[in-house]
Amino acid sequence: MQRMATAVRTFDFLVIGGGSGGLASARRAALLGAKAAVIEHGPIGGTCVNVGCVPKKVMFYTASMREALHDMKSYGFDVTLKKFDWAVIKKSRDAYINRLHGIYDRNLDKDGVTKIIGDAKFKPSENGSVVVDVGGESYTAKHVLIATGGRPIEAGVPGKELAMTSDGFFDLEELPRKIAVVGAGYIAVELAGILNALGSETSLLIRKDKVLRSFDSTLSNMITDEVVDSGIDLVRNTTVDKLVKEADGTVTVHVVRDGAKASLAGYSHVLWAIGRVPNTEIGLEHVGVKLDDRRNVQVDEFQNTTTPNIYALGDVAGKYLLTPVAIAAGRRLAHRLFDNQPNSKLDYENIPTVVFSHPTIGTIGLTEAEAKAKYGAENVRVYEAGLASMYFAVTERKQRSVVKMICLLPNEKVIGLHCLGLGSDEMLQGFAVAVKMGATKADFDNTVAIHPTAAEEVVTLKTAKKD
Ligand code: FAD
Ligand code: NDP
Repeated sequence: MQRMATAVRTFDFLVIGGGSGGLASARRAALLGAKAAVIEHGPIGGTCVNVGCVPKKVMFYTASMREALHDMKSYGFDVTLKKFDWAVIKKSRDAYINRLHGIYDRNLDKDGVTKIIGDAKFKPSENGSVVVDVGGESYTAKHVLIATGGRPIEAGVPGKELAMTSDGFFDLEELPRKIAVVGAGYIAVELAGILNALGSETSLLIRKDKVLRSFDSTLSNMITDEVVDSGIDLVRNTTVDKLVKEADGTVTVHVVRDGAKASLAGYSHVLWAIGRVPNTEIGLEHVGVKLDDRRNVQVDEFQNTTTPNIYALGDVAGKYLLTPVAIAAGRRLAHRLFDNQPNSKLDYENIPTVVFSHPTIGTIGLTEAEAKAKYGAENVRVYEAGLASMYFAVTERKQRSVVKMICLLPNEKVIGLHCLGLGSDEMLQGFAVAVKMGATKADFDNTVAIHPTAAEEVVTLKTAKKD
């Protein structure tokens, strides 16, 4: 049957992708009076809500419960863990995410944002027009935002399909018996930590000798030690060659370790956590939107792409793959386009970030190495204090903590703050305000400490580090 040509539906703001950035931008635009629509082909909320921050944090709390149970004996409680039922937390987690879907849908309705369900692709342009196709229907707008996020990658090795990615982690119906997590970044460290704490026999396979190498070296060194001390089998200097399924159903991971071939056997599960790629297969060639050399959508500081009136932000633009970054960029763009604020844009300097490792990491600003490279070692002073959280004063299980402050001379402006230890995740946000405002070490010192907390160390740092 021949499809009837339908009229092109027109909006002020058409957003492709109903994840963190797209939803925030569309809702803010609608509140500012724009006729806005969001196109989404998957569950509303995107990566963060469905296969990212939210279910991950629930599992982090689950893992923390297990750790607390272990510590209870030291605190005098006679508690024995008889059974951990993964299915219970999976069910409650899924129900929570379903509730969030409802909340997100209602918020779109409340703000008057049209939700279009389907797969969006730019159509070949006629006379310079920008038209987006969704299942045969055509849509256009004065302003179009690309907020399509990204997806996890797998290594291109034989048997790669025997392993899951972080998306698959959230589908698991039971705790893996024995798992190999491949990767050394945020996701590898977080998921390996959760699985290990919950009782999976966990190996972490890393290419180099440390995890989280892009973080300040003190943190990277310490969290690598913590990974080992927590009981994870850290397999260093190792690349995966192939995965083989054995007759008993287990997977053998064939590797090159320290330059020699080796094999690691008996895994019930393998998980790739080796990075993500942007979702850019949306007909960008039809509208002249260019990608950068890492295949992210190329944008300027105002989120403009190389085509007028088409914008991109969040993970698809490849700069700080974090939910609050996508949200903040999205809202600022809405104010620029619909609120007569021509200079509204996100300042990408001093973005705080947390890793939900065991223990957690909270960090903002330059690492010691970055600061010295940028300003010269003679202009940088570093304060560092290792401390022990009082929580561990009486426990059998111990975790390290450290606070490291990077200051720029002569007035010791704080240009980097790096914390590792219990509570670092919650601690950093407030200090990030001070760093963003340009506080000096003296400003921190002038603030009276709160005792006894881990955070008090940040305002009582005394000793400058000697090289
Ligand atoms: P997304 O949230 O990915 O949204 C993009 C949306 O576009 C998706 O819903 C997708 O279905 C849709 N889409 C794509 N193509 C099309 C198309 N052609 N048509 C229609 N719809 C389309 N960040 C944090 O800040 N804190 C954390 O603790 C954290 N934990 C994470 C844990 C994991 C395991 C992962 C994977 C990520 C985590 N992140 C975390 C990162 C965070 O999830 C992302 O930075 C954030 O979701 C990016 O938002 P976005 O709007 O750019 O993209
Ligand atoms: P990351 O970029 O954090 O880390 C991936 C790491 O995997 C690389 O740094 C690299 O480390 C290693 N790697 C890359 N290729 C290979 C390979 N072929 N074999 C083995 N190892 C490899 O990516 P993630 O996927 O962990 O996370 C993506 C992003 O999502 C993060 O950058 C972060 O922005 C966001 N995120 C944020 C979280 C949070 O806010 N808490 C939590 C989770 C994700 P090396 O070079 O050392 O080998």
